Amino acid sequence: MSRNNYFKKLSFLVMIAFSILSAAILIAAAFFNAEVFRIIFISVAFLLIVFLLFLLAGFIIVNRSFAKNEKKPGEGFVGYLSVTIALRLFMPFLLSVSNIFNYRKEEIRRVYIKANNGYVLSHGKKVLLEKLLVILPHCLQWSECSYRIREGLNECRECLRCDLGKIKELIKKHGVIVTLATGGTSARKAVKDLKPHFVIAVACERDLSSGIMDVRGLPVYGILNRRPNGPCKDTFVDTEEIENMIKYFTKEQD
Ligand code: SF4
Repeated sequence: MSRNNYFKKLSFLVMIAFSILSAAILIAAAFFNAEVFRIIFISVAFLLIVFLLFLLAGFIIVNRSFAKNEKKPGEGFVGYLSVTIALRLFMPFLLSVSNIFNYRKEEIRRVYIKANNGYVLSHGKKVLLEKLLVILPHCLQWSECSYRIREGLNECRECLRCDLGKIKELIKKHGVIVTLATGGTSARKAVKDLKPHFVIAVACERDLSSGIMDVRGLPVYGILNRRPNGPCKDTFVDTEEIENMIKYFTKEQD
């Protein structure tokens, strides 16, 4: 089953659960003689139905962006509302449900990252090179490298045994800022200290999805690392994608 199907399945289950709950509360309200309880139950059911409608709208927007690969989610207030409902309400809620029930977390996170990237790409925001921050995970470094690489890539000798060497080359070529993060806390600190206008972040599904949610208001394009050696060890990334995205999101090409 593709990850989009897991996303659809979980979305339908959540919406069916909300529908059943709303209907059950409305039916229960009919059996109460006391007017005050009846009003409370009807109010709760009404709120659940409103939330259900938001979930439905969020599902349609995210699903449509997959189906049509839309270039623009909408302009102005409509666009803002669509993104708010889909990426700031529906997807975080669905991620929480998949976490609670331990259901296909990686697949749902990938859907969120893809939907977020689709929005960021469609927005077409261009920033100055020095305002673009590339955040990399430490696990990209070859585990047997004898150089201690801390925040930047200065200590990397570009032996090209791991992808950090290639990334150092392209960072020098384009002149953007790069930082290495050991996890969500150091990534958030880098964002706070460096105050970028745009972030290209490389990480696993968990760190990327939580990072994108953490820095609301700051556009983040997420690139997943590849982990053939297991989590957090000798990981790889598509360096060509990093370079293409640097070009796409900066004023370098204009
Ligand atoms: S490319 Fe840089 S970080 Fe990677 S192994 Fe070589 S010196 Fe170490």
